[in-house]
Amino acid sequence: MAHTVQQVVKVMEEIAPPYLAEEWDNVGLLVGRMQDSVQRVMVCLDVTEAIVHEAIQKGVDMIVSHHPVIFEKLKSLRGDTGRERLLYLLVGNNIAVYCAHTNLDKAAGGVDDVLAARLGLQDVRVLSADQRDKLYKVVVFIPKGHEDAVMDAMARAGAGWIGNYSHCTFQIDGTGTFMPLEGTNPYIGQQGRLEKVHEVRLETVVLSNQLDRVIQAMLQVHPYEEVAYDVYPLANRVKKHGFGRIGRLAHRMTFEEFIGKVCDDLGVSSLQVAGWVDDEVEVVATCAGSGGSLINKAYCSGAQVFLTGELKYHDAQAAAELGMATIAAGHYATEVFVVKELVSRLQKSFDALQYDIEVFAAETMADIYKTVGK
Ligand SMILES: [Zn+2]
Repeated sequence: MAHTVQQVVKVMEEIAPPYLAEEWDNVGLLVGRMQDSVQRVMVCLDVTEAIVHEAIQKGVDMIVSHHPVIFEKLKSLRGDTGRERLLYLLVGNNIAVYCAHTNLDKAAGGVDDVLAARLGLQDVRVLSADQRDKLYKVVVFIPKGHEDAVMDAMARAGAGWIGNYSHCTFQIDGTGTFMPLEGTNPYIGQQGRLEKVHEVRLETVVLSNQLDRVIQAMLQVHPYEEVAYDVYPLANRVKKHGFGRIGRLAHRMTFEEFIGKVCDDLGVSSLQVAGWVDDEVEVVATCAGSGGSLINKAYCSGAQVFLTGELKYHDAQAAAELGMATIAAGHYATEVFVVKELVSRLQKSFDALQYDIEVFAAETMADIYKTVGK
């Protein structure tokens, strides 16, 4: 049976939930049609000319890329100029493009996690946690007999997920009272008469990003005209998503040794280093790509060195003045390892779902920068 772009999108959204993307970002299905069939998926960092030609040559139906293929506003879609020409080619060859950018950076097992794992960091934490990952308690009062339907609708919308458990709720029986007034159309009781009803108080937890969806789903299946429900913000800790990671090296080492290790781990021959660490290095903060905005977070979290892809001169200078060394290892070098990881996770998911889809990494990916000298 043919599988669709939409089915691939669904798997990608589980890996890198779109709600994690920054507001300025452009993620999701940027080229193509949801209903088109997919047999071959190619994963890459950037949709370059070489990548588009590789996709055409290999009969690829869908590209999954990290950097968005459309970012700036398009004012035309010409087949004879720069980036538009690539889009024109993609559309002409019926190749869909799905992009997971900042959502893949932040997601568990995404770009920043893959980089931290590559460096063998331990006790890894998110460096800059999203404020949106807040937990709420939702309490709803349901007439006895309807609690399962309401619970199920809420769970399907994302409520009650704790770790690997779904449908986590607590229910207690009680008595609800109400008096339907003029103009009402009560599910139970009559206008002007005080009613006592056997109700279930159902409580569950919901992440902030799913709160609206859960409430809507609950209201849709709840039999009452006016539903009584409460939403409480919680101070519980939740699994954080966000940019950057901080962790400890398995073994302390000198800064020179650490530099050698980074070159080996990332497969690069040179690094841009600012500042220096005189003590042995143990606490390392990382951010794949351009991580300049996380310098203060890294310093305040106790990092001795902050490793990222690329840094502005003045950001590196500011870090050095704080006494924290920085390493710029290259945007490409700090992100490219996610491609292999994504290929393996997608293939595993498709196999488990019995989708007849082949996933592979693009062969023509390349760092735009070369280190050259005299
Ligand atoms: Zn990037």
